[in-house]
Amino acid sequence: MLKNQLAEYFAIHRQDMIDDISALIAIQSDRQDPLPGKPYGEGPAACLDKALAIASRMGFATKNYDYYVGAVDFSDAETELDILAHLDVVPVGDGWTVTEPFTPKLVGTKLYGRGSNDDKGPAVAALYAMKALKDLGVELKKNVRLIVGCDEECGSSDIAHYYAIEKEAPCTFSPDAEFPVINTEKGAFQGRYSASFAEDKALPRIVSVDAGTKINIVPDKCISVIEGMTAAELASYLEEAAAATGAAFTAAEKDGLVEITCKGYSAHASTPDRGNNAITASLTLLSMLPIADSEGYRALLAMDRLFPHGDWYGEAAGIAMCDEISGKLTNTLDIFHYTLTSLEGATDCRASLCATDENLTDVIRKNTEDLGLTLDPACALREPHHVPAESPFVQTLLKVYEQYTGKKGEPIAIGGGTYAHHLKNGVAFGCTFPWSEDNHMHGDNEFVEMDELLLCAQMFAQVIADICG
Ligand SMILES: [Zn+2]
Repeated sequence: MLKNQLAEYFAIHRQDMIDDISALIAIQSDRQDPLPGKPYGEGPAACLDKALAIASRMGFATKNYDYYVGAVDFSDAETELDILAHLDVVPVGDGWTVTEPFTPKLVGTKLYGRGSNDDKGPAVAALYAMKALKDLGVELKKNVRLIVGCDEECGSSDIAHYYAIEKEAPCTFSPDAEFPVINTEKGAFQGRYSASFAEDKALPRIVSVDAGTKINIVPDKCISVIEGMTAAELASYLEEAAAATGAAFTAAEKDGLVEITCKGYSAHASTPDRGNNAITASLTLLSMLPIADSEGYRALLAMDRLFPHGDWYGEAAGIAMCDEISGKLTNTLDIFHYTLTSLEGATDCRASLCATDENLTDVIRKNTEDLGLTLDPACALREPHHVPAESPFVQTLLKVYEQYTGKKGEPIAIGGGTYAHHLKNGVAFGCTFPWSEDNHMHGDNEFVEMDELLLCAQMFAQVIADICG
């Protein structure tokens, strides 16, 4: 049967696959300034050329969509399945110890190098799945097309370009996340709040508050500057706020002001309960202090009322919701800046499938305005994404997963957005298994476990045979 043939095929072609992944890792393909005809610069374009050359060598027809994406076709039959992977990578840090990021190195069964896991290894696994079916003489009635993008990490403008030209296949999976199958992705609402006010000289007053750099990261540090109180006068409040929030506060006097540092810990915005938000902890403290009444202080208190510490589900903001498939909405205030005349905050909200602009955007806008703050009029919900678990496509993926791993396959819902988010019948399928070791994706010493990737390739081949055969 096909399963045994595939196991044998990939045992023989293991080294070929390692060589081809290594050739792609060696080409640094993080996004650079555009060049004429190369929208993401030299690296992603060179990597696409290399990938398409590998596919041509295998005997497949390829097409380059202006260096935004490339496509590899199994045959010229009508396409039933698209596989969506990417060749661009995130920039590298300086903590690599196993090898240099663009010098692939095999250590035992792990292949190290930037992009090995995200997403060059999976792209090559999909290509080899096509090649295996071809070499084994498996006949497909319909075409499978591998699409390799060059801008997944910086906003997916690559596939926007592609789908402006080509239509979506009846089924699409992207091997750029996790197994078994991600068929539900929450909606996203990024709120930007602001207020401006006249400077008030009455003391004590808050001179500044600053925290957060990225909207999707729960901040672990927040600095507040107070005028008109001493560190000694603040001490008991810091203790009280630490007890209430679990965050750590320290105060230091500096040029007649007191600088308070709040330390919490960070987490991804889709799982705010795993962190301890230093902004909301600081707002808890600031709301306890005997600050002189002012328009600015009232705006700051309004932020504390809307986003109180530990309210991960948008209850105070009036947007708490939940459904059985995607779970609870989450909401977290991740960027905050306060000066003597202005306030700005940004939240990252991951909304349940039941979210709409009516029950989310309109509600939080009203609650914000009632408290005297402004929500940027451009803020709107990015629709959630869901492909029903009962659909034949998702059922096929789950069946193959069970057949090849011997484990129960359940579809999963996530708060983040994958490459397949905007596709009507698109899901994420692999390549991280529930039991995979941390592969340092986006970090130093990124690697792919070749034993797992070879299993992925066999699963992809089976899926292609089942869907296009
Ligand atoms: Zn990726």
